[in-house]
Amino acid sequence: MNGRLDVLHNTITECTKCALHKTRTKAVPGTGSEMADVMLVGEAPGRTEDAVGEPFVGAAGRMLKMALESAGSSREKVYITNVVKCRPPDNRVPNNKERSSCKSYLDAEMKTIKPKIICVMGNTAMGSLLGQTGIGKIRGKLCKMNGQMYFPTIHPAATLYNRELIKVLNSDIKRLFDIISQIKDGVDVKVDIEYD
Ligand code: URA
Repeated sequence: MNGRLDVLHNTITECTKCALHKTRTKAVPGTGSEMADVMLVGEAPGRTEDAVGEPFVGAAGRMLKMALESAGSSREKVYITNVVKCRPPDNRVPNNKERSSCKSYLDAEMKTIKPKIICVMGNTAMGSLLGQTGIGKIRGKLCKMNGQMYFPTIHPAATLYNRELIKVLNSDIKRLFDIISQIKDGVDVKVDIEYD
């Protein structure tokens, strides 16, 4: 990557803070542009990501890549990461100990990138970042907490089980980049939900 996140990424690669390091093949730090306006946060690496050491490079990653490209963006222009940087066995949902062990890494990524909007993908990321449940109700809405804007959407893997959701993911990602354009044009964008 070569930049401000190099030291952090090396630390993540060698992390032994929770038990997931014992079963991982590779730890998976975030990837993309350190200058990104948008940071996208998923749950945890899956089998392909664990083998490769990069987030969202398997089947769910292909759906995310398509959504980004249909909105005129790309993996290279954004920053993509996960709540937890090592694969939980059998892709189970990461537990609280695993999430809190990894929290400082996500915080450091947010502080370094300073994204205009954090796209929260799925229930795990929404629980960890916004303390909310029920992605179906909140997805597609612009949220704000502690001065940071968030945009929740469905997890890209959901589109693999229900093809109807491809439209939902694509239209949410399109709205996300429309909002980014408005912010860059100096428009005072309307926040849908404010959390304290
Ligand atoms: N699912 C995630 O949440 N993250 C990945 O990196 C891959 C699949």
